[in-house]
Amino acid sequence: MSVLKGFTVWFTGLSGSGKSTITLELDKQLRARGIPNVEIMDGDEVREHLSKGLTFSKEDRDINIRRIAFVCHLLTRNGIPNIAAAISPYRSTREYARDMIGNFIEVHVAAPLEVCEGRDVKGLYEKARQGEIENFTGVSDPYEAPLNPEVVCHTHEETVEQSAGKIVAFLERKGYLEPVL
Ligand code: ADP
Repeated sequence: MSVLKGFTVWFTGLSGSGKSTITLELDKQLRARGIPNVEIMDGDEVREHLSKGLTFSKEDRDINIRRIAFVCHLLTRNGIPNIAAAISPYRSTREYARDMIGNFIEVHVAAPLEVCEGRDVKGLYEKARQGEIENFTGVSDPYEAPLNPEVVCHTHEETVEQSAGKIVAFLERKGYLEPVL
């Protein structure tokens, strides 16, 4: 199987919802289907490089997302499959990314806040509750859930393999991937 046209799978969801975890599984499932060249734009990694120095103010979050969108646009138009995994909390900025990229698959990683906070993978919710981190999405900054995402992954109710499998199935159905015969 191969990629028939470039695309960007754009994850959005709270910290700890499962974006990075599903990204790795999706990359693995795509590799297993003969697609070795998936480019991954992970939110934390982007902030170490492309967006180093930006804060979590609304303005800087928007700049961060617009930068990711621009890179995904360049790659997508050259036939590369991409995955972007950043919180991307604001609806209007995701719409900007959608319009710029075109072949855009918005995936809402939709675990409830209590579940994400219970996981507290990086200990950030605890810090946010104690006021040590400002503008923390879900605690002291808004999260605007997508109204019409292409795929929703309920990570508190499904396995990571199921979540990634739903995305692969969508990509096949919409003609991004050659179907398996
Ligand atoms: P994010 O990238 O959204 O901040 P992470 O992927 O770093 O989130 O963390 C998600 C946590 O939830 C991980 O510890 C992961 O093992 C766990 N988890 C449990 N079930 C799932 C699932 N179905 N999909 C993704 N992650 C899951």
